[in-house]
Amino acid sequence: MPKFKSELLQYTNINTTNSDNSQLHSCISEEVRRISIPIFSKFEEIVLQISKREVGSLGKEEFINKDTRITDYLKQFDVDIQSCVGMNQVHKDHIVIVDSKNRRQFLLKTDGLITIEPDIFLMVKTADCLPVFFYEPNKKIIGVAHLGWKGIFLDLGSKMIKKMVKLGANIEDIYIGVGPFIRNCCYNVSKDRIDKFQEKYGNDTKIYQQRKGKYYLDLQYLLQRQFEKIGCSKQKIEFLSLCTSCNNQDFFSYRKGDRDNVILGIIGRRTYGRK
Ligand SMILES: [Zn+2]
Repeated sequence: MPKFKSELLQYTNINTTNSDNSQLHSCISEEVRRISIPIFSKFEEIVLQISKREVGSLGKEEFINKDTRITDYLKQFDVDIQSCVGMNQVHKDHIVIVDSKNRRQFLLKTDGLITIEPDIFLMVKTADCLPVFFYEPNKKIIGVAHLGWKGIFLDLGSKMIKKMVKLGANIEDIYIGVGPFIRNCCYNVSKDRIDKFQEKYGNDTKIYQQRKGKYYLDLQYLLQRQFEKIGCSKQKIEFLSLCTSCNNQDFFSYRKGDRDNVILGIIGRRTYGRK
């Protein structure tokens, strides 16, 4: 058994269609300060971890300054900060294909990272936006993206898939996992923003809900639609049903006031430590 296997949080009975606050407490051990995405757990080579609030904010400065909090956190699942690549995210659609030369770099104006190399760990930071993780197990291609409504509007999700396919990925073999983000229970937006999406998607009424005169954009629906339209397998896409705003005690939420704090998501394909 690989050493890191025990570090992967295994949890079951996840209902990925409803936002249910009790889910968090039933499936995550209290002493575990991070979560993973179940659909990736069958891949022993994959490290996928998303930090909870109690870890603290592990954003740009901590990474660049080799803050011991981030090095200590990464050590818990045997990842060396020297092997990590970060992004200075700007809500656009720039994607960089990285390799070992990019280790320890923090790439500017980037919202997506892809690599075919092992032992490089790609980082994403979020607080209400969607941390999206990708893996094509046959071609061993991994990716991560930061998507808010702007990234979704710019089709960053399908652009990530296209880049992976260019590198040799089979689109139907790509696994996609989405960590905690602000869901349609809480994501109240202006009518203008609804109109913008309806213009793009031709009056699809499923993109939002209206409650008590307020509009709620459904980011999961929009992103899922994007992935399915391009040809991704529905069975290989998993959204955690955790809303950052509803579960603000466990995850940072920009809208709930966490203006400088971020959740750290990390994915890598590990070769060391395996039997
Ligand atoms: Zn919510």
